Amino acid sequence: MTQRLYRDDPYLLEFDATVVARRQHEGRPAVVLDRTAFYPESGGQPWDTGALGPARVLAVLEDGDAVVHALDRPLSDERVHGRVDPERRRDHRQQHHGQHLLSRAFLDTASARTVAFHLGAEVTTIDLDRPVTEDQVRSAEARTNEVVWEARPVRVRTVSATEARGLGLHPPEGVEQVRLVEVEGYDLDPCGGTHPRTTAEVGVVVITGTERYKGGMRVSFACGHRALATIARHQRVLDRLVSVLSAPVGDLADVAQKARDDLSSLERRNRDLLQRALEGEARRLLHSAERTGTTLTAGTPLIVAAYEGWPPADLRVLAQSLVALSPCVALLGSRADKAHLVFAQSEGLPHDIPGLLKAAVESLGGRGGGRGNLAQGGGERLDLLDAALARAAEVVRSGV
Ligand SMILES: [Zn+2]
Repeated sequence: MTQRLYRDDPYLLEFDATVVARRQHEGRPAVVLDRTAFYPESGGQPWDTGALGPARVLAVLEDGDAVVHALDRPLSDERVHGRVDPERRRDHRQQHHGQHLLSRAFLDTASARTVAFHLGAEVTTIDLDRPVTEDQVRSAEARTNEVVWEARPVRVRTVSATEARGLGLHPPEGVEQVRLVEVEGYDLDPCGGTHPRTTAEVGVVVITGTERYKGGMRVSFACGHRALATIARHQRVLDRLVSVLSAPVGDLADVAQKARDDLSSLERRNRDLLQRALEGEARRLLHSAERTGTTLTAGTPLIVAAYEGWPPADLRVLAQSLVALSPCVALLGSRADKAHLVFAQSEGLPHDIPGLLKAAVESLGGRGGGRGNLAQGGGERLDLLDAALARAAEVVRSGV
């Protein structure tokens, strides 16, 4: 059994101890000590890091009554000096105690019970057993910060299960001793974690997000220096938006909304203009085919055209415009990110458009397909596009 020094003094960062067992933990050397100030992962709070003699402490875990320290190298000494990383310990003290205060505030202001707590490297969350409104979230945050700024004393004591029941708590069956964390005049909670001497050490509690979760609510928050870091991160985003949108912070939301609306209307206008331009191009192609006599024996225009940089969607719209305007066969290509082809014919014409396209795209080293009167595809061989169009034109000419 390891004596847990952090329980009596969560500010204790250095200690001497004796190695009582040596083990392996996930391929790393590990030791059990007779006493430790290292907090093992439990109750939603991660383990402490630090050093035991020359070895780094990488993980600290509970194994029954023992506390196992996983190390980066073996320890040969029987007596060791331990040093807990102070910043990580302080961070965990702030986040975990902030959680106690916030959970109490949600219980008092919204009758919402905390059913889970997770203290992550980046995000800390509690899960509430019921949904809460935005107003309740802000009330709980305000109440929590009042308690922080009142610098209420925090006391830790261990009582018997009977005493705990007398205080209105419900310790699990079989538990004889209950460790209580009490915030004077505000909260009493059974907990094995590391807590500060007064609520003031939490500094400030900022709720950074809420989401519906398992019929209740997941609340993300940051305390103390983490809250400052979060605000600084958000401020950098705001500064960037102020610069990008050329607007003061207070106007950002309206300006961003207007920019989105403007973009939507420009996109509509753009689609409209593109449609008109493609229809114009279709008319030009048909006119030119009739003028130069590029027609099949039945007098049907055969349109063969290659473009630079056109996306396949534009080729497709152009082909659809052509076959709708006048009975014709359209063999269209574009040299863009790759060689694109769109083949089409008007209703009632006899050519095997999917077969033509399949042969053409295969000659470009690609794939494609279609049905009936429209087919499209593409291949990597930009240099063979003209030849593929010419061959397809030959097949069409020989067909009628
Ligand atoms: Zn706790």
